Amino acid sequence: MLVFKFGGASVKDAEGIANLAKIVSNYQGNKLLIVVSAMGKITNALEKLTKAYYNRDSDVDKIYESIKAYHYNILHELFNDGSAIFDDVANTFVEIDWMLEDEPQDSYDFIYDQLVSIGELLSTKIVNAYLNKTGIKSQWLDVRGYVHTDNTYREGIVDWVKTKQSIQQDIPAMLSKGIVVTQGFLGGTSENFTTTLGREGSDYTASIFASCLQADSVTAWKDVPGILNADPKLFQDTIKFDELSYTEAIEMTYYGASVIHPKTIKPLQNAGIPLCVKSFNAPEAVGTIIKDTDKRSFEKAIIIVKQNQVLLSISAKDYSFINENHLSDIYRLFAKNHIKVNVVQTSALSLSVCFDYTDDRFNPLLQELKQSYNTKYNSNLSLITLRHYEYPLLSSLTQGKNVLLEQLSRNTAQIVIEDFRTE
Ligand code: ASP
Repeated sequence: MLVFKFGGASVKDAEGIANLAKIVSNYQGNKLLIVVSAMGKITNALEKLTKAYYNRDSDVDKIYESIKAYHYNILHELFNDGSAIFDDVANTFVEIDWMLEDEPQDSYDFIYDQLVSIGELLSTKIVNAYLNKTGIKSQWLDVRGYVHTDNTYREGIVDWVKTKQSIQQDIPAMLSKGIVVTQGFLGGTSENFTTTLGREGSDYTASIFASCLQADSVTAWKDVPGILNADPKLFQDTIKFDELSYTEAIEMTYYGASVIHPKTIKPLQNAGIPLCVKSFNAPEAVGTIIKDTDKRSFEKAIIIVKQNQVLLSISAKDYSFINENHLSDIYRLFAKNHIKVNVVQTSALSLSVCFDYTDDRFNPLLQELKQSYNTKYNSNLSLITLRHYEYPLLSSLTQGKNVLLEQLSRNTAQIVIEDFRTE
C-alpha cells in the first residue's frame, strides 16, 4: 500500500492536476491513498481573507472573489460546463459565504481553521473529480472524520488512538475499491469542528495515514528533485542527497528545512516506513529516500536558512540574575502564546531567544513580558543553521555581516545575522 502527498505547487493549475493524474495512472495496480494540499498559494490567500474578515477590513470581498476566480478558472480548463463538480465546488464556497455574512464572534485561531481549511476541501474535490473523469477510479474522503485532534486551533494535536481506530476501520475496504483522495493539513475535533495541523502540515497527514495503515512507503511529490543540501533559490552549486537517515531528516526539519514538515518523520521512523521525496516534473528520477541508514558522511554541509526571525532579549526589571523561576515564568508565556523557540542563549542577566516573527503571536507575548521584564528585540533577521559545518564555510557566510548570536556544537553551527542575502 502506498501513500502519495501532492503539495500546493503540484496542483497549482490545470496542467499540474493533469500531471498528477498521469503520475497516479502509472500506479493503478497499487492500493494508493493520495493526500493533497490546497492549490498553489491558496492557503496564503485564505490567511489574508481570514485576517481581513477578522479585522473587518474593506477588502474581504475582493480577496474572496479572487480565491473563487482562481478555482473556477482551473475548473473551466479541466471540465465541461454542467459537470457535477461545479455544484460541488459552489456548495463548498457556500460554507464561506455563510461565515462571512456574520460578524466575527470566535477566536482568531478558530476562525482561521474554519476558513483556511476550504483550500484543501476544494483541491481534493477537484482532483478526485478529475481522476474519475480520466478513468481512474477514485473516492473522496473527508479527512476530518479520520484525523482526530484536540481543539488547539491552528496546531491541532492528533489523538493517535482514535485516529488509528478510524483509519484502520474504514480505509482498507475503500482502498480495495480504488484510489482514495483526501485532504492534507486538516483534522476534526470531537465536536466536529475543523482544525489545522500547522502550516505545511500535509506531509504530516501523509505520515499519519501511512503509519496507521502500515504503508510500504510514502512519496512526497515536490517541485525539487529531492532533498538538497541548501535552498537552490539562495545558494549555487547545491547537491541532492540520494538517501538520508531518519535522524538527519529530523534534525534538518527541526532546524527549519522547509522541504518536509517537522512532525512527518517520527511516525514513519517508528513504523520503519521509507519516505521518498521526488520531483513531480521528473517522476522517473530517483529523488531522495529517507530511511534507516547509517550514512554519516556528507559531501557538503547542509545549510538551512530561516528568514523573518526575531531575536528577543529578556532581563529582570531589578537587574537580578536570570534564574530558574524567571526561566519557567518566561517559558510559560512562550507556551501560552504558541512561540516555538529556535535558538536560546542565557547570560547572567538576560535570556535571548530567536523565533519566527508573526505579529499575531509576537505582540501579545511582548505585552505580557513587559509587565515583569525589560525587553529588547531586533526583527527581520535570518537564522542560519549549518549541519556538518566547516569553518571556511561558516566564515564565508558571516563575513561582513552583523552577527547577533552564534552557537557551535560538534555537528551544528547556528548564527543569527542581519541582512542575509546571497547575490
Ligand atoms: N496548504 C497548507 C499550507 O500551505 C498545508 C500544506 O500545503 O502542507 O501550509
